[in-house]
Amino acid sequence: MIKVAVAGASGKMGQRIGVLATEHPDITLSGAFERLGHSTIGKDFADVAGGAKTGVLISNSSEALKGADVAIEFTAAEATLENLKTYASLKIPAVIGTTGLSAPQIEELKQFAKTIPIVFAPNMSVGVNLLLRVLKDVASTLGDDYDIEIVEAHHRLKKDAPSGTAIKMAQVIAESLSRDLNEVGVYERKGLIGERSKKEIGIQTVRAGDIVGEHTVMFGGLGERIEITHKASSRDTFARGALRAALWIKNKPAGLYDMQDVLGLK
Ligand code: NAD
Repeated sequence: MIKVAVAGASGKMGQRIGVLATEHPDITLSGAFERLGHSTIGKDFADVAGGAKTGVLISNSSEALKGADVAIEFTAAEATLENLKTYASLKIPAVIGTTGLSAPQIEELKQFAKTIPIVFAPNMSVGVNLLLRVLKDVASTLGDDYDIEIVEAHHRLKKDAPSGTAIKMAQVIAESLSRDLNEVGVYERKGLIGERSKKEIGIQTVRAGDIVGEHTVMFGGLGERIEITHKASSRDTFARGALRAALWIKNKPAGLYDMQDVLGLK
């Protein structure tokens, strides 16, 4: 049995993680916290998120981490780095699902991984992580003769673009083809832009309504096209992955891990 504290507990992901943690036979929800001034502070987690009553109140301090074996964090980039200071000082392993971290922020996160174990993954669904492995193989087999385009779609409230998952997919494919994504990534097209260059990897973003998360990777050749699509229909797929990561990380040594480690896909 492990005790889990949830950061961003009143957010879309935080609520589902807390509820599913409560239902999990091997996990206890030991704490829930939110940013200073959030309207849910002091409320019972179950009154905010639903699910069975656990007596856990939403807090705004590190009190919520008392006794926790693992912290799960799906918040915002700056908040995540701020909270990592606390996890590291209390030596609490962390599962981080927050996306939109800049390159310097990722470097900062890596420093915390010298003190505590951290699972950091832009997408915690089992399906997407399996796909990342498949994409690596497909890209290396098809080589440079196929044009690669990624299209991702998410709900209207998503703050970062393109999605962390689309960037990860592009990175895996670029690596597999010995390309540098900083050089070949194309994120928008407009006007008289000329022919497509052979090695570019297009990444396009759609934002609409309540789309949970969809990613299509297209390999366009002459006379054929392969499309690999993943569609998340519920946030619970990410929440379940985060709980799986929490169970996995509990006794791991300090270091930076991802969902490929958690799922044994490496
Ligand atoms: P959301 O805006 O609904 O929730 C974020 C919550 O974090 C809010 O309730 C906010 O008040 C809270 N918060 C902000 N600062 C905080 C702080 N300092 N301490 C504690 N809580 C704080 O967003 P969401 O849809 O739940 O997504 C959150 C993040 O998770 C985003 O970066 C999103 O892209 C990412 N995400 C990742 C995955 C994955 O599988 N890795 C899946 C879905 C979403």
